[in-house]
Amino acid sequence: MKSHYDYIITGAGLAGLSLLMRMMQHPFFDTAQILVIDAAQKNTNDRTWCFWENEPDIFEPIVIKKWKHVSFIAPSYKSELNLSPFVYKMIRGIDLYTHVLSLAASKSNITFCTEPVLSVQTKQTGASVELKNQTLTTNKVFNSILFEPVNLLAQKASDYFLWQHFKGFEIKTASPVFNDAVATLMDFTVDQEQGTTFMYVMPTSSTTALVEYTLFTPSILEDKKYDKAITDYIQKTYGSIDYEVTHQEFGQIPMTNFSFSGGAGNIINMGVAGGQVKGSSGYAFHFIQEKTKAIIADVVAGKNPLRALDFSQKKFGLYDAVLLRVLQDKKLDGATIFTHIFSKNPPDRVFRFLNNESSLIDDLHIMASVPTRVFLPAAIKALLGVKRRRGLN
Ligand SMILES: Cc1cc2nc3c(=O)[nH]c(=O)nc-3n(C[C@H](O)[C@H](O)[C@H](O)COP(=O)(O)OP(=O)(O)OC[C@H]3O[C@@H](n4cnc5c(N)ncnc54)[C@H](O)[C@@H]3O)c2cc1C
Repeated sequence: MKSHYDYIITGAGLAGLSLLMRMMQHPFFDTAQILVIDAAQKNTNDRTWCFWENEPDIFEPIVIKKWKHVSFIAPSYKSELNLSPFVYKMIRGIDLYTHVLSLAASKSNITFCTEPVLSVQTKQTGASVELKNQTLTTNKVFNSILFEPVNLLAQKASDYFLWQHFKGFEIKTASPVFNDAVATLMDFTVDQEQGTTFMYVMPTSSTTALVEYTLFTPSILEDKKYDKAITDYIQKTYGSIDYEVTHQEFGQIPMTNFSFSGGAGNIINMGVAGGQVKGSSGYAFHFIQEKTKAIIADVVAGKNPLRALDFSQKKFGLYDAVLLRVLQDKKLDGATIFTHIFSKNPPDRVFRFLNNESSLIDDLHIMASVPTRVFLPAAIKALLGVKRRRGLN
């Protein structure tokens, strides 16, 4: 390994590898010396990403399933939504890691190093990356490592903090059970005792599906509670079917209005560490793609990719804070909020809104669809920066 690289990517998860993929596709980076560092070898299938987009992007070749329709189910409302112009897509973590890293292995200007990064520091010119036995220098660090646990960093410093936590079973049934043309985005017909809770069912064929139990609450559950909720749901929804669990995944994603640092000097943060998780939904895939596209465009144009939040990002940050305030203070439950939104708006407007791509007119329609008596006071408090009174969770 050399001691200096043009660019160092610290963290080879979704953000690091999305950026690397975009670098490999742009001739500007053909001769740049690029080092990618991750503590893990990235050889396990530790997560499944789903997201919606209206045109194919860089990971289209590894999309394993697409849905043009999704269903929304709540106790008082049920609908099958035509997503057009969007398509809901699924990618397996291991496929993305293998795809990007095998392409990178064929490039002589890219080096992968499996080692923990201890710290990253910006310098007068360039930046440094500290490993156990070596300090490397570089022109720019693109960092997606959170050097402090997210709960310590954000939970106490933010007004709103919930975990989106979930466990998923990939199951294979003995006989055909699923309609794989329609994915279940949210099924709220499960116990809401803990807070906003729903099932998420992504059928990949008539006999295979990812069935995920998801909650937006302050603390995570005992493992067996997720298992029971999933098995009860399968029994309730599909009857006494024979099935095997072929894979399991667990995740917890921060839902918060904490201002994650975009970086400093020659360090550009991205991914969860850079604040690309949408506070009110936990979705990050789309925002990480947008961020890595913007970084590439800036670097190629000779501009500094370290940018302050623009008006649109601040606007959507405020909307997220308002929804989080309503959810965290239990002013209205998630099932009711999403029922209002999905029943009173066309799906394309809702999905544009959730991707932070809606127009002001779209936003006004979405706002008009939720109860003003609950959302207006929360919006005023969020706008004025009124702190929540809370106990620590
Ligand atoms: C199970 C799960 C499922 C998800 N599903 C979706 C989804 O369907 N749709 C969606 O939009 N979002 C989803 N998310 C949210 C988000 O897209 C993911 O968390 C995504 O992986 C975030 O990308 P990232 O690069 O910020 O972090 P990661 O992908 O976690 O990458 C961070 C990398 O840093 C490495 N690292 C950490 N510390 C060090 C260190 N000190 N030294 C060296 N390396 C280090 C890690 O090994 C890791 O490879 C999901 C999250 C999880 C956990």
